[in-house]
Amino acid sequence: MDRTITDLYINGKAVPASDGGRFDVLDPATGKVIASVADGTVADAIAAVDAAAAAAAQWAATAPRERAETLRRAFVLMTERAEDLARLITLENGKSLRDARGEMAYAAEFFRWYAEEAVRSAGVVTTAPSGQNRILVVRQPVGVCVLVTPWNFPAAMATRKIGPALAAGCTVVLKPASDTPLTALALAGLLADAGVPAGVVNVVPARRSGEVVSTMLHDPRVRKLSFTGSTEVGRVLLGEAADQVINTSMELGGNAPFLVFADADLDAAVDGAMIAKMRNAGEACTAANRFYVETSVAAEFSRRLAERMSALRLGPGSDENTEVGPLVNEATVSKVDSLVREAVAAGATALVGGRRPSQAGFYYEPTVLCDVRPGSAILHEEIFGPVAPIVTFDDEREAIELANDTEYGLVSYVYTGDLARGLRVSEALEAGMVGLNRGLVSDPAAPFGGVKQSGLGREGGHEGMLDYLESKYIAVQW
Ligand code: NAD
Repeated sequence: MDRTITDLYINGKAVPASDGGRFDVLDPATGKVIASVADGTVADAIAAVDAAAAAAAQWAATAPRERAETLRRAFVLMTERAEDLARLITLENGKSLRDARGEMAYAAEFFRWYAEEAVRSAGVVTTAPSGQNRILVVRQPVGVCVLVTPWNFPAAMATRKIGPALAAGCTVVLKPASDTPLTALALAGLLADAGVPAGVVNVVPARRSGEVVSTMLHDPRVRKLSFTGSTEVGRVLLGEAADQVINTSMELGGNAPFLVFADADLDAAVDGAMIAKMRNAGEACTAANRFYVETSVAAEFSRRLAERMSALRLGPGSDENTEVGPLVNEATVSKVDSLVREAVAAGATALVGGRRPSQAGFYYEPTVLCDVRPGSAILHEEIFGPVAPIVTFDDEREAIELANDTEYGLVSYVYTGDLARGLRVSEALEAGMVGLNRGLVSDPAAPFGGVKQSGLGREGGHEGMLDYLESKYIAVQW
């Protein structure tokens, strides 16, 4: 990386917090401090909105081709700097380098995809049903956007918002998660190097996230909130956004069911399960949270999954051999541990794992639990760790009922050898996305998002840019 930013990034400059405050960022592999970052205040949030508002008209008026080429340069730079950025992600998030490299490829792709979409923001012209006049619909940038991102994909969750926002002609203030602000700040520097004008992208890390975000959501110049994080915080922010009727996109929590029917290719199902469960050590909103396996193949599936999980190498993310890094912080690892303990106390059996290893850092052993009792908290809460609870089912109807028995609806996975069943079940599942014989659904070219309490709106694909555009209808007589 050309330079490391540890201050706020406002109006094209790295600046300290208005009160001089800073906070520490830790390495999850050791628990040691790796950097001190400026802690944004309410005054800083207003300064960032000032910058985004001042830059808005010119960026909106910039030719789509020029916006596209700027994003394309960002893609190229991100690809060139991928290794350094992956190491930075590993340093502050803990994930293995392989996961961090995977995230970088995914994250960069949002800049390329939206470079391509920036010049395809088509409107509509139709003749009114009366035949008397024309209906003209043009798309305009929604305006200044507040973007709030989580720690689990510090680069991809930021580019998935910045890419479409900039393509649409919006300016932004990004509030990254306090566990992982360094990657977001590095992206700000990268975007400046790609030619993004001052004020178009501002980054304000802040530990007082509630106050700082609330201030922005009550500033009349802010017109959109795009949030990725927990359903709990999402609900609070939806309430805050209501005060000014701010346009919202919410990517919230998940509780993904992973269904394996007896007619599935079990090798493929186990491969898919490993990806759906273990990408990012289970710290993903898309992580398979509950495995429902048809009774006749449950013992065999569980045995094979346990064998694969027990072979995973746990260690510091920076070690090239590591397949599973530490979790992000103490709170996350102790939550995983308590969910497992409770499930085991209620009668589940750990086929493998089920405990915290003795080494320092926030590690948890890859774990497979079978005979998990219905009603166990582990089936209803996001685990966000490397634990696979398995429950059996006897028929398709029961599988669908179990899968849909949650307030979440982000993604579901289905493994079956019968295509008709696969499509029927996919349609019946209450989820914004379904992986049918696939353990990975994320693709910058596809609409990502949830139903029920997993969110509102879509990111990625063509839909992703529409979330940053307003449709203006011009009634025309000519
Ligand atoms: P979180 O909700 O605790 O925090 C998300 C962001 O919101 C962070 O930047 C945090 O600082 C900020 N925040 C926290 N409280 C706030 C408040 N009161 N006001 C304003 N901002 C506030 O989530 P997390 O622990 O960082 O991330 C994990 C969660 O994110 C999981 O629930 C996961 O499922 C979800 N997630 C969802 C998606 C998706 O696309 N649906 C993707 C990744 C993660």
